[in-house]
Amino acid sequence: MRFVSTRATAGQAAHGATLSEALARGIAPDGGLYVPERFPALGTAEFDGCATLPEVAERLLAPFFAGDPLAPQLGAIVREAFDFPVPLVRLHPSPAGGVDDDAHVLELFHGPTAAFKDFGARFLAACLARIPRADSRPLTILVATSGDTGGAVAAAFHRRPGTRVVVLYPKGLVSPRQERQLTCWGDNVTSLCVEGTFDDCQRLVKAAFADERLRAGYELSSANSINVGRLLPQACYYALASLETWRRAGKAPGFVVPSGNLGNVLACVWARRVGLPIGAILMGFNANRTVPDYVERGEWRPRPSIATLASAMDVGNPSNMERLRHLHPEWRELAGAVGAVSVGDDEIRARIRADRGALGQTWCPHTAIAAEAYARLSPGKRSGTPWVLVATAHPAKFPETVEPLIGAPVPVPEPLARLLELPSRAIPIPASLDALREALP
Ligand SMILES: *Cc1c(COP(=O)(O)O)cnc(C)c1O
Repeated sequence: MRFVSTRATAGQAAHGATLSEALARGIAPDGGLYVPERFPALGTAEFDGCATLPEVAERLLAPFFAGDPLAPQLGAIVREAFDFPVPLVRLHPSPAGGVDDDAHVLELFHGPTAAFKDFGARFLAACLARIPRADSRPLTILVATSGDTGGAVAAAFHRRPGTRVVVLYPKGLVSPRQERQLTCWGDNVTSLCVEGTFDDCQRLVKAAFADERLRAGYELSSANSINVGRLLPQACYYALASLETWRRAGKAPGFVVPSGNLGNVLACVWARRVGLPIGAILMGFNANRTVPDYVERGEWRPRPSIATLASAMDVGNPSNMERLRHLHPEWRELAGAVGAVSVGDDEIRARIRADRGALGQTWCPHTAIAAEAYARLSPGKRSGTPWVLVATAHPAKFPETVEPLIGAPVPVPEPLARLLELPSRAIPIPASLDALREALP
């Protein structure tokens, strides 16, 4: 299997990259994003006997690894990366109130940093650790984060020989618990608290990659959400949840996915494309309406992001839209393939309160958007179809928002509690390339 750039023309596409090259490079040399040159066709029967996430993942990803030096190690990679549970939990009654509704929640927050980013970060780390490198210097992974990605990447690479992680996060713009997760590591992880916004952090990472002096001194890599090594592992939990539903109910479930940069939902679209039993895909957005407006009207108008309660989804120009449009170049076709709704902060608050009372469920602000989007489905779309609501983070990551709404403390899961006890270390820097150069280990 070759991976080609979304910006390649037909002739160039023939070259493409191997999986290992695509993983190591992150972004394609022409500035586009890597996508598989074609999608394999796998029916449900091909997953007979696959019951766990590593088993499903090994079957699903084998065609994507075919011909790559990593192929013989696929089994070891998925067993190492996916070593925590992925429960699919029944909701009864459903967030829409119906006792006959077939609604489940897919809990993606049981990894070390309590958000779905752990799947991609751990998988990417397990792959990169197995790609032989000619360079004897450590691989320095730069990651700009608005909250969850940096912690997941730091956790995944912490104490891995031959690698260093440098996390850049915007001062005062991440939640206190997210900040602890970004700064508790030490060893081969350096945390930089940048005087600026998330956009400044991203700009600095890009500038570092373009800087001759830094490139001469370091072997740099990035682990941001455009790396194809984060999408492939995410497709695996959609495969598992769809197969579990298919085996139980004999029907293909719909999925509701809280979305920002579209990495998570794109993995769901890819899983459906491969042939897994997945019906409707509904994206839930916060007040950042770039994608819902496009799906509604066919005009692509990226804009600056707006700050919301679901801050990990505050994206005004989602980079993975380039992959979604590569798959569905026609607006009408794209609007037929995925749905999009936008949920405001007041509705997030109301949904967290309501479902705590009626269902005993505590949502994080991002997951509350999926619950609200589900509740808004017309009865015709809802009844008779199994639906899976994707829970992207544990509510204990956002106590400032959630606890006043439910009037109770949110118990902290054990892996998260352990991280929160560690001492916190960050180097404050102004948002300049000189300062970044000086702060690099
Ligand atoms: C990153 C994140 C999202 C958004 O995921 P995308 O892949 O960017 O669409 C949603 N919820 C949480 C908790 C996140 O950390």
